[in-house]
Order: sequence, then structure tokens, then C-alpha cells
Amino acid sequence: MLIRIKGAISNCYLLLGEKPVLVDTGAPGDLKRILAALQANGVEPKQLGLILLTHGHSDHAGCAAELKRRSGALIALHTGDVRLVRAGENGVLAAQDTMGRIVRPFVDEQFEAFEPDLQFRDGFSLEPHGIKGRVLATPGHTLGSASVVLASGEAIIGDVLRGSMLWPNRASPHFFCNDPELNNLSIVRLAREGLMRCHPGIFGSFPGSELQRFLATTSGQVMELSGEPV
Ligand SMILES: [Zn+2]
Repeated sequence: MLIRIKGAISNCYLLLGEKPVLVDTGAPGDLKRILAALQANGVEPKQLGLILLTHGHSDHAGCAAELKRRSGALIALHTGDVRLVRAGENGVLAAQDTMGRIVRPFVDEQFEAFEPDLQFRDGFSLEPHGIKGRVLATPGHTLGSASVVLASGEAIIGDVLRGSMLWPNRASPHFFCNDPELNNLSIVRLAREGLMRCHPGIFGSFPGSELQRFLATTSGQVMELSGEPV
């Protein structure tokens, strides 16, 4: 089972399988919300064996250090973003549109630095961690971005794309992307998985068919289709 935990800016996800796994840890101020969500779902922090980070930005890695102290869980992160979390900084946030330039000062905060316990390059299976699924490298938003593909046909895609601010079931380009061409290749990789549903780092989830629609249109058309201002 997949449970969305809404933080101040972004989503974390709690995966309930044989053992619970937390995917992402919110922004630095999101600790109480995450702990409350764990409690509401009957999960003690010490039951967490793994905290997987989709990437090293402050609104995904913000509470990782504190949650590790409270849980003893291992933190897994792609090698490409390790330097970000060692510094507790976002690095480059390349704005993709006007909204990105507007929100950048509000989201570009520092967070407690830490050393990831498990560093991966191409991905790995979550089965040894109690979840039927695997982690895929999906770089572009950052060099070390990764997605969780579950056996259920759902995926947690971090900031590869975002949900729509206004419309349910719609994907939009994220506000920030450091390498859009590489990110498009990651969207192709995810589209080939034949996903039923994608759960993004920001706003609501959308069907896997949104990946194909994104690839078939320009980013400007996608925003127009989603009803949001270009
Ligand atoms: Zn991000």
C-alpha cells in the first residue's frame, strides 16, 4: 500500500509492505507531519528499515538526518546527488519557467547535511527491504534523481514531472530541471514500464498515460493542455 504524506512543499510516500519504507523526507519543517503520518498508519519510526530519497533537494531530503536518528533506518540515495546532501544544499536549481523563477527563493533552503548509507548508480530491488518493487535511475531534474517502480504498476517519480496545480490527473513539467534532455530520456524509461499511476514530488498523482502525452507534445503544449498559465 502506498500512502501520500503531504509536506509544506512536496510529497513523501510511505510504502507498507512486509516492512515499511519511507520515500523522501520533506522539507526541513516537515518532521511533525511525517511523524504524525507514520503514527496514523501504525508505524513506529524504529520499524522503518529504509529511507529512500528520490533526489537530494531540500524538500525531499530535508528531514532525512533527523528521521535517521529517530529510526535507525538506512538512507539510500543515487551517487549523483551525494554531494548535495553532504553539503545540505540544493546546488543549481535551473528554473524552467516564470513560476520557477518566482518560487525559487522560497524553496531554495539549506538542510541538515548527512552521509547516505546506501549509494546506488543504476538502481536496485526493494524486495530485500520488504517492498515488491525496484528503484530506477531517472536523472535530469538532478544528476542523482531516481524513481520507485512498484509491482502494483504505480511509481513514485520524485521531480521527473510534477502534478498539476489546478487539474487532477495531469502531469506538468517541474519548475526546475538541470538537464531537460536527460530528463526526457528518463520519462521515456518510465513510459516503457507501462505504469498505471505516477506519484510525483509536487501536487497530485496522474495516470501513466500522461508520460506518453508529455513525450508527444512540447512542454508549452503540455502546460496549455493542463490549463495552467505558460
Ligand atoms: Zn527537486
